[in-house]
Amino acid sequence: MTLDAPHLDAGDLSALKAMSARVGRDPLLIQGAGGNSSVKIDGVLWVKASGTWLQDAERAPIFLPVDLDLARQRFSAGEEKVAAMPWPSAPAGLRPSIETSLHAFLPQPIVLHVHSVNAIAWCIRAEGARALGDRLEGLNWAWLPYCRPGLPLATQAAALAARGRAPDVLLLGNHGLVVTGADTVATEALLAKVETRLHLDPRPAAPARTARLGGLAQGSPYRPAEAAVVHALATDPARCRIASGGSLYPDHVVFLGPGARILETGERPAELADQASSAGLPVPALLLAPGQGVLLRKDLPPEAVALAECLGEVLARLPDASEVTYLGAEEEQALLGWDAEKYRKNLQRPG
Ligand SMILES: [Zn+2]
Repeated sequence: MTLDAPHLDAGDLSALKAMSARVGRDPLLIQGAGGNSSVKIDGVLWVKASGTWLQDAERAPIFLPVDLDLARQRFSAGEEKVAAMPWPSAPAGLRPSIETSLHAFLPQPIVLHVHSVNAIAWCIRAEGARALGDRLEGLNWAWLPYCRPGLPLATQAAALAARGRAPDVLLLGNHGLVVTGADTVATEALLAKVETRLHLDPRPAAPARTARLGGLAQGSPYRPAEAAVVHALATDPARCRIASGGSLYPDHVVFLGPGARILETGERPAELADQASSAGLPVPALLLAPGQGVLLRKDLPPEAVALAECLGEVLARLPDASEVTYLGAEEEQALLGWDAEKYRKNLQRPG
């Protein structure tokens, strides 16, 4: 079936674009190309294209049409990806989001998935699911333990929806938040309500020792981070311990590699990078110099820097002495070796 653009209900698609752009501009909800949104109109699922930025929704064609019935059949049969429908003005080279299956299986007309730093700060805690019960009381919500983004996550969400009334809100362990609604107004209102319920105040931390960091970075492929909240990952001992302990959620692994590397006393960033390169290993994306601040690899693209800031914002909101749950080595490998994620990471942001 070829899609005839004039038959679309342009109002619904415009509303989706406006909501997506608004949400996408808030770095506490969306970082880089993360998150996605969709609308179902007359059997067609309009879903964000992989690798595009939600904040670009009103200035670039970031949504692709997918045949909803066909997509549900293919995903139910275990296929991981579906193609977009032929469409005269389809942007070239784009393919539907890696989360298209999640959007297809959830029955609500609007589905919005965000990497809210408040939600992530709850969803990485070992007692997150239990603690959320009080905060979200009265809402039609459900908790989904971590599953790899894509079909495994969508299949779990579909099973949950099939057991009764589909939840309006999904909290995704070690990942983020999904809100749904009959239209964009209801969905955005529900997002605001959930954000208010989950709100956590960021805690202060000691400032970076920038002169010392600048000296450390000299002659290396590193530079001091810009954002104070990133430096706090190393100046605050609790955040430093948690950040260096492992990987907490998928986009961190995809864009920055597993965890964060501590720069030990006496270690030089230039030598560390040389040793990694000559051993054929990736040069760590971020180095935590305890008590001093954070160094970022100079060649990190904007979406990777956004993910470093996300980690800073998340751990700033984690109560002291929180126990966190990390992704396992197999889960990290599944993210790093995944074709769809490589594709997403390598896409250029449309102008
Ligand atoms: Zn996600």
